[in-house]
Amino acid sequence: MIMQKLIFATNNQHKVNEIRPLLDGHFDIITLKEAGINIDIPEPHDTLEENAREKSSTIYRLTGTACFGEDTGLEVAALKGEPGVKSARYAGENRDFSQNIEKLRQNLAGAEDRSARFRTVISLIISGKEYEFEGICNGRITETARGEGGFGYDPVFVPDGDTRSFAEMPLSDKNRYSHRGRAVQQLVNFLLTNENFV
Ligand code: IMP
Repeated sequence: MIMQKLIFATNNQHKVNEIRPLLDGHFDIITLKEAGINIDIPEPHDTLEENAREKSSTIYRLTGTACFGEDTGLEVAALKGEPGVKSARYAGENRDFSQNIEKLRQNLAGAEDRSARFRTVISLIISGKEYEFEGICNGRITETARGEGGFGYDPVFVPDGDTRSFAEMPLSDKNRYSHRGRAVQQLVNFLLTNENFV
């Protein structure tokens, strides 16, 4: 069986590691590096949707190959949805995970409401048409960082229905709950139920 090739428009190896097992056996996922594309696609917009579209459309223009991009934000209720689309650069342009977590910890100090959610938007372009998928994971921000796995804000995020932070779980458990896992599941369902794409 020939599998549909899909370029995943990211340079974030953590995201590739998360998504690959979810698409395995259905689609041939190609990273930017594997496609020989050595660019850092900017995230200049004020919404996850526009940033995800920026990534997919940039790669589609370059390759003409089916591809998808995604953008994710952590939305904290007590911070009125911040850091949101600015999650990567919350503590500054150097996108440092531990500085971002420290800033979040300080801004939430003493807050009673520690509820938050991750939201992922995937933009798929296939045969020149764009489709979007969203995945949300509700949870809360812990007072201290816990666990060594995952990336980004994982050590301080506990999803509803569990007591472990994302960084304390095996990848397969994170994928069951996670914003990205849910968005990818929709992408897979869409592609598999549309016979033009398989
Ligand atoms: P972006 O989608 O790469 O722009 O990610 C925005 C920010 O959220 C970055 O700081 C990431 O590290 C963080 N982030 C994205 N996805 C996750 C996740 O699944 N867990 C924890 N942090 C994440």
